[in-house]
Amino acid sequence: MKTIGLIGGMSWESTVEYYSIINNTVKEIKGGLNSAEILLYSVNFKEIEEYQSNNQWDKAEKLLTDIAKNLEYAGADFIVICTNTMHKVADKIQGNIGIPIIHIADSTIEKLKENRIKKVGLLGTKYTIKEDFYKSRIENSGIDIIVPKEEDIEIINKIIFEELCKGVIKEDSKNKYLEIIEKLVEGGAEGIILGCTEIGLLINQEDTNIKLYDTTIIHAKKAAELSLK
Ligand code: GLU
Repeated sequence: MKTIGLIGGMSWESTVEYYSIINNTVKEIKGGLNSAEILLYSVNFKEIEEYQSNNQWDKAEKLLTDIAKNLEYAGADFIVICTNTMHKVADKIQGNIGIPIIHIADSTIEKLKENRIKKVGLLGTKYTIKEDFYKSRIENSGIDIIVPKEEDIEIINKIIFEELCKGVIKEDSKNKYLEIIEKLVEGGAEGIILGCTEIGLLINQEDTNIKLYDTTIIHAKKAAELSLK
C-alpha cells in the first residue's frame, strides 16, 4: 500500500472528511481491518487565510512547499492538497518535490469526462471562481465553465469563510447556495462542481436534481484508489 501525504487544515472541517472518505474507500475495496496509510500535516488555517486575503501567495507557496518536502522525506508516495484554492500554487510546489501532487481539478475533470459533461457550473471561493488557475485547467480539457454573477460569488465566499470553515451550518445558507445553483442550471450547466472542500458540509446530492461534483469526495476517493495501485 502506498503512503498518502495529506496537506490539510484548510480548513480542518473538510480535512476530517478527507480522512474519513479515504479510510472508508480503502475499507470498501480491501475489506477486513484494512485502513489507509496516511501522513497528515494540518496547518493553522488563520495563517493561510491571511496570506490569501493579503495577496501573499508566495508566502503560502513557501509554507506548503516546505510541508510537502517534509511529507516526502517522511515517506509519502504522493501529495494531496485538501483544498481547491491552494491549488493556485500547486504547480510551483510540484516543481520543488520529487513525488506527484494529485491535482484536485484533474481528478474532477476525469469524473466530468466519464459523464460526458460539456458545460459545468463552478462554486468555490472567490479565488477559485474568479482567477484563472482552476478554470483554465478545466477549460483546457474541453469543458466549458459557467460561473455565478459577482454578487453571488460574494455570498458563496462569505459563507465559506464565515460559516463552513468554522463548522457553522445554516439552513438559510444552504437555500442561498441552492438558488445560485438553480441560476447556473438556467444558464446551461449540466452539472455543478462543488469547488471548495467545505461545500459538501452544506449541500449534497439529495438536495438537488442536478448532478453535483463534490471535489472532496472525488479527490479523497482518487487518493485512496491510487494508494492501492
Ligand atoms: N477549502 C476551501 C477550498 O477548497 C477553502 C479554504 C481555502 O481558502 O483554502 O478552496
